Amino acid sequence: MRLIGTAPDKASILSFVMDGVHPHDIGTIVDREGIAIRTGHHCAQPVMERFGPSTLVEAGGQKILFDCGRGTVLRLQQLGISWSDLDALFLTHLHSDHIVGIPDLFLTGWLLGRRVPLRVWGPEGTQAMMTRLVEAFQFDIRIRPQDDLTPPEGASVVAKDITQGVVYEDSGIKVTAFDVHHGRVKPALGYRVDYAGRSVVLSGDTSFSENLIRFAQGADVLIHEVCLADPKTLKASEHERRVMAHHTSPERAGEVFARVKPRLAVFSHIVLLGDVHASDIVALAHKTYAGRVEMGQDLMVIEVGDRVTVNRRPK
Ligand SMILES: [Zn+2]
Ligand SMILES: [Zn+2]
Repeated sequence: MRLIGTAPDKASILSFVMDGVHPHDIGTIVDREGIAIRTGHHCAQPVMERFGPSTLVEAGGQKILFDCGRGTVLRLQQLGISWSDLDALFLTHLHSDHIVGIPDLFLTGWLLGRRVPLRVWGPEGTQAMMTRLVEAFQFDIRIRPQDDLTPPEGASVVAKDITQGVVYEDSGIKVTAFDVHHGRVKPALGYRVDYAGRSVVLSGDTSFSENLIRFAQGADVLIHEVCLADPKTLKASEHERRVMAHHTSPERAGEVFARVKPRLAVFSHIVLLGDVHASDIVALAHKTYAGRVEMGQDLMVIEVGDRVTVNRRPK
């Protein structure tokens, strides 16, 4: 197994492509992001240091991507991952910020060498969405093979709607989908990846979920979303109250960690509502959980072996 930017380690399983950095970790962007936060920032906000949700898992010689937010192919490029080498894309749900990078992955991947269909699994609606996406780009898909002799293979998609249960088994990797709670966004899925006795769980977007706790038991790494809200903002805005209800506070996430007891808990998909700071999130989670918690960051790489190591991209 190859892990991004590291020596091979057969016990490793996971690497982050992106998602989860808070600009307060970045430095110069603080003020600009501060303004964005006060105007109701969440993960759809375009920020250069924090691209859209997407996590890459490498194990057993496979590369599996979870969600495909803005800039996914750019981050893959930074990591030296060929877009044509991805074995599968799994979607947690169909909110646009989690899928808006798919056309780029699909079409640029084809243009630059993928000669097999892009495989996409996701909740109900995924297959229909992917069919329409291929239709939307028919001009390009038709003209390139005629015009510049781009091989037509690869300009297609194999998509499948999935439900809770084991959804993928290949080369020793097992992917299990499970239902989570994301307001009226139903179905919304989390995923568990098992390989060689190691396991990683991705929460997807969810409020506190007993089902997630059940499926995450024994996981080495739990990557969980989080939302920190300013009480004044919640009081003033029905919209923000609804957004908060779709997500998990740091304290509640800490309760999840306490019941799962992962070797490492990671916050990703960090939603900030009002005048709040992501740098406070870990301390808030520690009110309810004493274990190891890390903030996610774009291009962070986590290796899961006898040790769980976190490698952050230098600032
Ligand atoms: Zn969502
Ligand atoms: Zn989201």
